[in-house]
Amino acid sequence: MGSTARVAVFSLGGTIAMTPGTPGGGVVPALTADDLVAGLAGVPVELVTRDFLRVPGSALTFADLIELEGAVRREVDGGADGVVVTQGTDTIEESAYVLDLLWGGDAPLVVTGAMRNPAMAGADGPANLLAAVRVAGSPAARGLGCLVVFNDQVHAARWVRKTHTSNPAAFVSPEYGPLGHVAEGRVSIPLRTARGPLITPGPERNVRVGLVTVALGDDGEAVRALGERCDGLVVAAFGVGHVPAGMVPAIAEVAARLPVVLASRTGAGPVHEWTYGYAGSERDLLGRGVVSAGRLDPLKARVLLHLLLASGAGVRQVAEVFAQVAGSGS
Ligand code: ASP
Repeated sequence: MGSTARVAVFSLGGTIAMTPGTPGGGVVPALTADDLVAGLAGVPVELVTRDFLRVPGSALTFADLIELEGAVRREVDGGADGVVVTQGTDTIEESAYVLDLLWGGDAPLVVTGAMRNPAMAGADGPANLLAAVRVAGSPAARGLGCLVVFNDQVHAARWVRKTHTSNPAAFVSPEYGPLGHVAEGRVSIPLRTARGPLITPGPERNVRVGLVTVALGDDGEAVRALGERCDGLVVAAFGVGHVPAGMVPAIAEVAARLPVVLASRTGAGPVHEWTYGYAGSERDLLGRGVVSAGRLDPLKARVLLHLLLASGAGVRQVAEVFAQVAGSGS
């Protein structure tokens, strides 16, 4: 790396890039990557900009992100020291983890966005982008996979969650906290996280992974229906991994045919393995071939399962990779 880091900014749209579409109408993605970086004059980084997409976060797909990772790779091969992706916050928990599972390079790959659009008082986009650019250009951020930078905090893509609809402090890592911070323009990342597995999806594989949140009195019909139409299923269960006893036959039936992953709907903490022994408990479900998500939340578990299936993995490999990722915090 030369003395001035070169950082490529890929803009995908999202609130950070939104302005009112019609007088009196709502905001829509409009700003370019050049518009976004215009306020960063004076940052000691060489910036290059790429308009990749101009969409809300809700419009992003796995295919978009696979293509984006290819573009990031080309940018880094061409000399970028780090990359920033700006996008809608609605899907950052998932998109950043997709990128983390695809991106094998050492160069920092940093995702950010904004909770308040540029027309609002206290818009957070410029500060988030500035911090993200500093992180992407920092040697301290190398080798950490994909990072999410918001509110001057640096989060590992694997653990970060969006926990509020509108608060600028929405992004937190409930399991382990942020890896680092940006203060007075300096990037400090005292905590390291080991890289997770890297996944190479097959070129043509179309995969559908269902996600069911278990709710009071659930009878398993939704699981049965999804089992007919999906290649894999994530069950976001109660507490440490529990479902009503009436759901167990449906889950067992589906798990005999497809990978079914058991996560917790609580938002933090691991799925347990051996504490409870009644029908519908974690012991019961794991004994029926269901795979534990460990500490991965249901959205991250769905991303991991999707990419594993898209890479051609079978049930055994799915179980092995989840065992490796899910328990250890690595
Ligand atoms: N609320 C979203 C955002 O923060 C909208 C989106 O995801 O595009 O960008």
